[in-house]
Formats: sequence, C-alpha cells, structure tokens
Amino acid sequence: MTTVVYLDYNNSTMETKIRQVEPNRIDRNIIEEAGRLIAAGELVAFPTETVYGLGGDAMHPLAARKIYAAKGRPSDNPLIVHIADFADMKKVAARLPEQAGKLAEAFWPGPLTMIVEKNDSVPEETTGGMNTVAVRMPEHPVALALIRASNCLIAAPSANTSGRPSPTEASHVMEDLSGKIAMILDAGSVEIGIESTIIDLTEQAPMILRPGYITREMLEEVLGEQVMVDPGIIDSDDSRKPKAPGMKYRHYAPKAELVIVDGTEDAVVQKINELVRRKKDEGKKTAVIASEETRRRYEADVVLCIGTRSDENAIAQHLYKILRECDELDAEEIYSESFQTPRIGSAIMNRLLKAAGHTVITV
Ligand code: AMP
Ligand code: MG
Repeated sequence: MTTVVYLDYNNSTMETKIRQVEPNRIDRNIIEEAGRLIAAGELVAFPTETVYGLGGDAMHPLAARKIYAAKGRPSDNPLIVHIADFADMKKVAARLPEQAGKLAEAFWPGPLTMIVEKNDSVPEETTGGMNTVAVRMPEHPVALALIRASNCLIAAPSANTSGRPSPTEASHVMEDLSGKIAMILDAGSVEIGIESTIIDLTEQAPMILRPGYITREMLEEVLGEQVMVDPGIIDSDDSRKPKAPGMKYRHYAPKAELVIVDGTEDAVVQKINELVRRKKDEGKKTAVIASEETRRRYEADVVLCIGTRSDENAIAQHLYKILRECDELDAEEIYSESFQTPRIGSAIMNRLLKAAGHTVITV
C-alpha cells in the first residue's frame, strides 16, 4: 500500500462540540450523544488514562480515513483499536496467542497495547495496510463508557495533529483539531501522560515496539519469558526501521532547537548556563526544561519546571504540556535536563529524544 495523506473530507469546517464529563459521575445523555456520533461514522476525541484519543468506528473504513485526514497522519501509520471487553478481541484477531490472555488478566483495562494477527473484518484503513492489528482496553471510565455506548470498537490514535505532542488535556485537542471533528469529551488532565506500551505478540518472542508505563520487567514477570525491545526504537540513526510505523516519524519537536544535556546534576547546570550565556551574547532568547530541584539555578530567559525527580509519574504527566508550552515561547534555543528516571525513564526519554531529534550533549 502506498503512503498517502488523506485530505480533509469536506472543505468546510464543522462545529466541534465540547462536553465536560465528570469521570465519577458520567452524564448518560452526553455519553449517548457521543456514542451516536461514533456509530454514525463521525469522530469524537475522548480522555484515556494515557493521552486523549481521537475516536472513530474501527470497522468503518471511512471513519478511519477521517481520522488520518483530521490529524494529517500518513496512511501507513496504523490505529489502535480500543475495546471495553476482552471477548471483543475475537472480533478483530485471527487467533489469540496464549500470552494475550495472561497480559489482559494482569494489565487490562490499562496502558498496554497488544499487536496480534488481524482477521478479515478489520478494514485495512484501520491497520494502515498491515495484516496485524493493535488492540487496547483503556482504563479511563469515560473511554470505557464511550466504547459501550457507541456499540462499536473504537479506532483511536492520539488526538493531536501529526508530529505535535500528544494531548494531555482537552485544550490541547482544541488547539489541534477544533473545526475538524464532531466532539471533544473533556474530563480534565490525563493521569499517565505518555502513550501506552506496545507489545508485539505475532513473532517468536514478544517484543516491545513502544516503551510506556508498563515496563519490560512487568511484562516479563507476567509472561514468565524474556521480552525483547525493538532495536529500531533505541537507535538514533535511521539504519534500523522500527516495527511500529509511527515510531519512525519525527515527533513532538518544538519549533525552537531542543538540546538535551545529560550528566551529573552540577555538571548539567553548569553546562546549560554556559550555553545559555553564549546564546544571550548572540542576542538569542533561551529556555530550559528543568526539575523542581534545579530550576532556580538557571540563568535562561524562561525556565519550565517539569516536576520533582522524586515523582517520575509527574514528570511523564507534564512532559507533553511542557513541549507544547515551548512552542508558545519565542525562544530560539531550549535546553533540557535528561530524565532517565528509575522505572519509566526509558519511556520518558524515548519521547524527549524524539523531540530533540536525538541531540544530546553528555557532560
Ligand atoms: P498513537 O495512537 O498515536 O499512539 O499511535 C499508535 C501507534 O501504534 C503508532 O506508533 C502505530 O505505528 C502503532 N501501531 C498500530 N498498529 C500497529 C500494528 N499493527 N503493528 C505495529 N505497530 C502498530
Ligand atoms: Mg500519536
């Protein structure tokens, strides 16, 4: 299948309805209205525990095309199918590997996506022409309620314009997709803030195609076997192609140059301040992405605090919001500390490295 970028379906912009939803007290009328839109082939953005998703009927080729068009997403980058019941996996999978049951038992509903062989009922638009399909059961009550109300399986990539940081609150979805989709369900900020872990179950050994909140160690413990990590996502060069098509695209990059400085705390602060001073001498505006512990030590024009190093979940939660804020500054150079935190550091750094185009200074 050749890669195309679908153009907007109709040139006229549509009114995007915004509905506030209380996750603990979901308004039935709103969820049913949103469910009807999905069932009618329209697009609805909704909160999940990872990031906001842009949902459409997964079994409807036109709905899938609308998703690619609204995001400006290349058509070879498949969508994740969201389900609300494990039994629904049979509606999309040709066969279920034994590991799927174990992983679902341990992590579903939750931030884990499984790749399995697809059956013929899944349109190739949804899977970007691949013979496999990505499936996830989200944990967010609004996401689960929407899937059930629509009576559909919901294909949903992150609800951002392709290439921009994923949305972690409804205002981010508005920024990118207002006028292009039917509705946004607003349930406030998401909990995790980075996309789901993707595990491929179609090969000899299970393999992580995208790191996330569910770590390799957690997966290995449940599966009782070794889990590989796709070498294509670790390399900074382009020689090895990642297995998840989406991982090959440059992502999240702010308009300004972003450089990561890695090393011991004092060395990083010293190096960044030295770089900041040099840019200031050239008359350039600078910004720094810092931790709570170090933020007061920087001499940059703007210091964006991502959170305390003692709470890596908060760092993940704030990452995309901070990258979006970078775009609102008119800074020309942004320096970021490295956030190789103990548990989900590989997932955080995977996104930050992409945003920086893998530019790292080690001190
Ligand atoms: P997003 O929903 O924005 O997080 O994007 C979904 C991610 O899942 C992208 O990186 C896709 O390339 C990846 N993905 C979806 N389906 C498959 C599949 N069948 N095989 C490999 N990767 C997939
Ligand atoms: Mg995405």
